[in-house]
Amino acid sequence: MHLENYHRLINELKPAGAKLVAVSKTKPVGDIRALYDEGQRIFGENKVQEMADKQLQLPADIQWHLIGHLQTNKVKYIAPFVSLIHSVDSLKLLAEIDKQAAKNGRIINCLLQIFIADEPTKFGLDEAELHQLLGSPEFKTFKNVSICGLMGMATNTEDLTKVETEFEHLKQIFEKVKAQYFSEQPIFKELSMGMSSDYKIALKHGATLIRVGSMLFGDRS
Ligand SMILES: *Cc1c(COP(=O)(O)O)cnc(C)c1O
Repeated sequence: MHLENYHRLINELKPAGAKLVAVSKTKPVGDIRALYDEGQRIFGENKVQEMADKQLQLPADIQWHLIGHLQTNKVKYIAPFVSLIHSVDSLKLLAEIDKQAAKNGRIINCLLQIFIADEPTKFGLDEAELHQLLGSPEFKTFKNVSICGLMGMATNTEDLTKVETEFEHLKQIFEKVKAQYFSEQPIFKELSMGMSSDYKIALKHGATLIRVGSMLFGDRS
């Protein structure tokens, strides 16, 4: 645990008006509890089962964010409690989230994950797929999901100029989509980008949520 990094990070986020998602994947509930005791309430996990297990063992006022790839058949396990799903990357997945949210009498907040990196392994929609999704008749029928913004991951590289270009690109997509589809929905306001290695760049380019793990909890082995 790096509590000194936590407090430094919180102070860095204040002037930017951004929020911290403390990424606790692979870390024990004791570590989450320690950060909770410092005042942190938003935690991010990338696996459904792990998040559901931890949720049962920790205070009910924690806001659980799913940041990893989500399979349609697993939505039901997190639908009762998840606070924000960052990783929506298909209409089919969104339809299932809508269905499970309705079953639970909830509206589930979602971000659409956009592919901005120069790596074949990362999930996400490209710009054409994003417009296809938002323009589809089915999308307009969803009553139990709320699209709160976009999420993206930059290429894992030392080349910070490249990372900066990718974050700026995502910011531009965000502004365009907001104007085109969400001009009357102020809830579309979140831009989730930046991790331990690149959150400073992300903040410079308009991130409202940063997802930081190893800088707070130490390396994952
Ligand atoms: C693990 C993870 C993070 C946090 O990465 P760190 O380098 O540990 O800060 C952020 N976003 C996603 C999607 C992740 O899977």
